[in-house]
Amino acid sequence: GRKFPRPPKTRIITVANQKGGVGKTTTTVNLAAGLAQAGLNVLVIDNDPQGNASTALGLEHRAGTPSVYEVLIEDAPIASTVQECPDVPNLWGVPATIDLSGSEIELVSLVSRETRLRRALDTYLEQRIANGEERIDYVLIDCPPSLGLLTVNAFVTGREVFIPIQCEYYALEGLSQLLKTIDMIRAHLNPDLRVSSILLTMYDGRTNLAQQVASEVRTHFPNETFRTTIPRSVRISEAPSYAQTVMTYDPSSTGALAYLEAARELAERGQGFSSPRRPSPAGV
Ligand code: ADP
Ligand code: MG
Repeated sequence: GRKFPRPPKTRIITVANQKGGVGKTTTTVNLAAGLAQAGLNVLVIDNDPQGNASTALGLEHRAGTPSVYEVLIEDAPIASTVQECPDVPNLWGVPATIDLSGSEIELVSLVSRETRLRRALDTYLEQRIANGEERIDYVLIDCPPSLGLLTVNAFVTGREVFIPIQCEYYALEGLSQLLKTIDMIRAHLNPDLRVSSILLTMYDGRTNLAQQVASEVRTHFPNETFRTTIPRSVRISEAPSYAQTVMTYDPSSTGALAYLEAARELAERGQGFSSPRRPSPAGV
């Protein structure tokens, strides 16, 4: 049975931060595995040419494998690229191959270059329903460390932005640029987009610095910041080399338990409200 509540409709969540190495990919794959292990149907779109999410999920992603590249550049249907993740039931992925690394340039000259992923995903989700397949509950999109056209496509596709922040000295640098980009996308391309979730990653509560960064983030984003923080953990960083998430590689490790808790928080926050929304009394 399902251990987490099912959202009323598919939640499409873009995991973004133009800084590299802050835990975007780690967060994407482990939240996805946590939600899937709780019985929800989850699709990960690896939208980063580095293909790290594909590696961690055990997806085939050699050059030429049908991938997000074919979706963005060649109008391939997403259904033709989706793979089942070998280790986790209810978890599917669209891989990224090295082909994607030229796509920012290739996209520039294509029509509707900003909305290509969105159209493809909307079609895929509708077709699943039309085919009588089970609805996808969560779509998580992993982004490259930049604000180029790949990330723009992910912002146009998502309804929520999930920002992992690493608890280190320059953590908040660049955040205002990220928020400005999101505002611009909301104004021109996707009125539904908003920052719903912020997760503190690689947190070491023994250091003053980590505590300071955490409290600064919570002050700026009291409703968005998760109570759960993700500790630094060797098991988390080892898992991808076994083509696994930490959720299957070492489910009882502190890192896996933290990501499971974060997945629960994500599910229980509904569409990104800090507390579950109660229906208002009739007539109000
Ligand atoms: P991004 O996708 O933002 O570039 P990654 O998720 O790839 O960041 O993480 C960067 C590096 O840090 C990777 O080697 C990853 O394994 C490692 N890492 C991420 N989160 C943790 C953690 N909580 N503890 C230890 N290592 C981590
Ligand atoms: Mg990454």
